[in-house]
Amino acid sequence: MNVFLIGSGGREHALAWKISASPVLDKLYAAPGNPGIAEHAECVSVDVANHQQVIEFCRANSIDLVVVGPEAPLVAGLVDDLKAAGIAAFGPGKIAAQLEGSKGFTKDLCAKYNIPTAGYGRFADAAAAKDYVRQMGAPIVIKADGLAAGKGVTIAMTEDEAFGAIDDCFAGAFGAAGAEVVVEEFLEGEEASFFCLCDGTTALPFGTAQDHKRVGDGDTGPNTGGMGAYSPAPVMTDPLIEQVMREIIEPTLRGMREMGAPFVGILYAGLMLTKDGPKLIEYNARFGDPECQVLMLRLKDDILTLLQGAVDGQLAHMSARWQDKAALTVVLAAEGYPEAPKKGGEIAGLERVAEVPGVQVFHAGTAARDGKLVANGGRVLNVTALGNSVTEARDAAYKAVDLIDFQTGFCRRDIGWRAIERESK
Ligand code: ATP
Repeated sequence: MNVFLIGSGGREHALAWKISASPVLDKLYAAPGNPGIAEHAECVSVDVANHQQVIEFCRANSIDLVVVGPEAPLVAGLVDDLKAAGIAAFGPGKIAAQLEGSKGFTKDLCAKYNIPTAGYGRFADAAAAKDYVRQMGAPIVIKADGLAAGKGVTIAMTEDEAFGAIDDCFAGAFGAAGAEVVVEEFLEGEEASFFCLCDGTTALPFGTAQDHKRVGDGDTGPNTGGMGAYSPAPVMTDPLIEQVMREIIEPTLRGMREMGAPFVGILYAGLMLTKDGPKLIEYNARFGDPECQVLMLRLKDDILTLLQGAVDGQLAHMSARWQDKAALTVVLAAEGYPEAPKKGGEIAGLERVAEVPGVQVFHAGTAARDGKLVANGGRVLNVTALGNSVTEARDAAYKAVDLIDFQTGFCRRDIGWRAIERESK
């Protein structure tokens, strides 16, 4: 198979690493890629936002499957355009990607199919949204409807804070993504991520994870794209997974089918495990970053066979097997992240890490400059390790982190604390 991978982050490096080990792979291309992805794929300069250019590249290079990593091209309808051109692509079409692209869309689907989620209202003007806040009281959650790279959510502890967030949204703080606002009931509990590989009809459970969104140790400081993650999430027991499949995932797939937009791709459910049971916080329509990195390290089966099975509607006859181990990833970020990451800092010592068993370093924001590797974004490297427990995986990952020379970088030192606390009981 000739495969074309779209994306340039740690998630896509992990996918490239796993795809390159596939016995059915002939040639892997990637756009735009990064120096880590380039170890496994030929990185090509195709403008991913220009769908016609992507189609022409696929035709010229006999691409059998396009794998789309990030959400933006999914929401922009890349998969629909490829399909219309007769090219197979893994990922949801534009309408199904609305599960991630519009919070209001997902909330309405939940209401229609009785999927447990926070109570909510959808508003296109500030006055009505504020009335709803007065009615519900604080704490309350204000969300820009569209994609805002994780920045469009405010957990408001007071009504005034909620009013401020509503005003910001309608004043254009998130551009078109804030043209509508979702106001949500505040949920309490532990968060966990649950992934399913979907072919439109069948959802194959595809691993659990927990991540660390805050920049600082002890889950402090501003939110980020994610500073680390581990899999499996010990809190996601088998009975809980069955409940989530029954109450959340299966009705969602049914709803999308009934809408005429079957969901094919990775359905990533962000869950709140409340005292009243699991509730859906949000959907993403693709793998998480950095959750994909820990999942790929644990996946035993061939990823291409599974992705192709999803595209072909064959998942009812397939299964995915996982290493009975834990995986943990630590994000090395550039100084100043998330506000103003400093680019250009040199990175050395990755060859020393290659000698640590069970460890893989996935590149995110890196670039090759004058024969050196430098930081080129906020999140720079994902140091990912396998172990017999989360504690062991954590120890291996930090051992590797300490072998890397990245003076202008930093990482959290407490990734996995929740699971490790559970393991030590
Ligand atoms: P990301 O891109 O970071 O996943 P997002 O912009 O898609 O974020 P959500 O996942 O909906 O937004 O919310 C971000 C975070 O805010 C959640 O991970 C959760 O910690 C918190 N959160 C969201 N909704 C609620 C809620 N109803 N009650 C309590 N906390 C919430």
